[in-house]
Formats: sequence, C-alpha cells, structure tokens
Amino acid sequence: MPLHIETPLIQSLPLGLAVGQDVWLKMEALQPPGSFKIRGVGAACEHHARAGKRRFVSSSGGNAGMAVAYAGRQLSIPVSVYVPETTTERAKALIRQEGADVIVHGAAWDEANAKALASLDEDSAFIHPFDDPLLWTGHATMIDEAVKAGLTFDAVVLSVGGGGLFAGVAEGLQRNGLGDVPILAVETEGTASLAASIEARQLVALQAVNGIATSLGARQVSQHAFELSQTRPVESVVVSDAEAAQACIRFLDDHRVLVEPACGAALAVAYAHANRLARFKRILMIVCGGATTTVERLQAWQEF
Ligand SMILES: *Cc1c(COP(=O)(O)O)cnc(C)c1O
Repeated sequence: MPLHIETPLIQSLPLGLAVGQDVWLKMEALQPPGSFKIRGVGAACEHHARAGKRRFVSSSGGNAGMAVAYAGRQLSIPVSVYVPETTTERAKALIRQEGADVIVHGAAWDEANAKALASLDEDSAFIHPFDDPLLWTGHATMIDEAVKAGLTFDAVVLSVGGGGLFAGVAEGLQRNGLGDVPILAVETEGTASLAASIEARQLVALQAVNGIATSLGARQVSQHAFELSQTRPVESVVVSDAEAAQACIRFLDDHRVLVEPACGAALAVAYAHANRLARFKRILMIVCGGATTTVERLQAWQEF
C-alpha cells in the first residue's frame, strides 16, 4: 500500500467556463498531509525504510516537511524536521501534530538545512523536497491515475518551485506515451526561477525569492528540471501574487477547497490568463494543494 491516496479527478465547470475549454482537476489538495508531496516523499521514505533506515530528516517547514512527518508516522519511523526561526507557528504545529520533532535553528533556511545535514548518520535518510529521482517517480503516479481513469488531455498546468512536481509529471507523461503533451509551468513573479533559467538558456539562481507563494520559493530549480525544459514541450507562465491569491479565493468558492497561493498560481492561469490555454481542448490542472494557509491569511492577501 502506498502512503498517498488515489485522488479525485473531476471536471471543473467554473474553470472550464473561465477558459472556454474543458478543464479537469487532479485534486492533490485532498492528500492526507495536504499536498501532492506525499506521493514522492512517501515513495522515497518507503524505499529508505526497506533499506533499513531508522530515522528520516527534513529541512522543510512547509509541505515537504509535513509529508515526511506523515510518512514517518505511517511507517513508525521517527522524523526530525529542522526549520529556521522564520517558520510560522502554524507550520511547526502541523508538523508536530504528525508526531515529528521540530528543531528550530538559524535565521534562514540555509542554516537549518546545514544543521539537518550535520545530524545525519548511517541510520538516517535525508528527504530532499524536490531534487531526487525517487520523488519524481512517486509524483508520476498522479498521471498514471489520470490515464487509467481514461482521461485524454492535450495540456497539463502545474506550479513550479524547485521543479519536483514538474519532473514527476513529465516522467508520468513519458511513461504513459504522452511525452509530447505540453506542460504549462507556472511560477509567481517573486519565485520565477524556472522562467529565469529558460530565458538565460542555462540554470541560474535568483538573488532572492519573495512574495506569498512560499512553497514555490526555491532560488534555483534542479538541473533535471531545467534539462526537461530544454528537451520536452514546456511553456513558462508567470503570474502575480494578487492573481494567485484571487485564484485561491475563487477556487474556494467554486470548489470548496482551500489551497495555498503556490497552488493558486497554477489556477490563476485559468482565471486570469485564459488566453494561454486557448489552443487546447482539454486541460488537466494539477491542484497541488498546500496546508500552510488559512482563510484569514487569504483575506489579508486579497487586499493587495
Ligand atoms: C512543493 C510545492 C509546490 C512546488 O513543488 P516543487 O516540486 O518544489 O516544484 C507547489 N505547490 C505546493 C502546494 C507545494 O507544496
């Protein structure tokens, strides 16, 4: 039994109306730890458990850390999550709720990550949030499910942080004979590291990331994600924070599911950039989810 669940695949009339085409949603927001991340993280954790590892380590105060904590609880393996002082109380509480140890260290993520790496011994496995082939193979199962359900589609829309979801979906499409289906890779203005690399035609790191889509905040995508952008059909889309926040609110009204701005970014392509989808007939949107936001914070962001 995998640690993720098979998520609903539903047609969205409201998003379809906004786009003027058929839009289908893969509802990864309904995974038990709140995002798609459990697919890859779960697969990686099961792999390490089989290899005899007895402790999992993460340095993500976001959905990756939550997924590792959830996987550890399911597998009865202790989890340590190292986070910087900037991590919200809510995120720490969600990780602790899964029974994981939260260790707060350093002013920024680099320091927390260094501490996490220094804590590793031969019994422990470090679970990277996006740059690991084990993760991509696990994420790819969401495409297996869509294909198995009999859905045909001519484009996939998803959000990009470090590019793990993107790499996993690309792998899923490839292994189902759909390697020529374009992926629309969506980022916010403050986190557009894939867009910057595509434009520079080489892997580049942003000076800084900013804005409300914190789960997209990798300064640099993985080498593999960049290579995919050069070797398969990929279109970069960049949306504003306001569009991402608005999309979350509209999606909450339309589908009664609360998602992070990181996910709202992808939804904003339908709500605010429908022209980018005009040439497709049936679009699969990955509703990647995210557990770190609240209705109250969404309302505050809406005032932008
Ligand atoms: C991690 C995450 C992303 C981005 O995934 P990457 O694999 O880093 O590109 C997008 N949305 C949510 C909700 C996430 O948790």
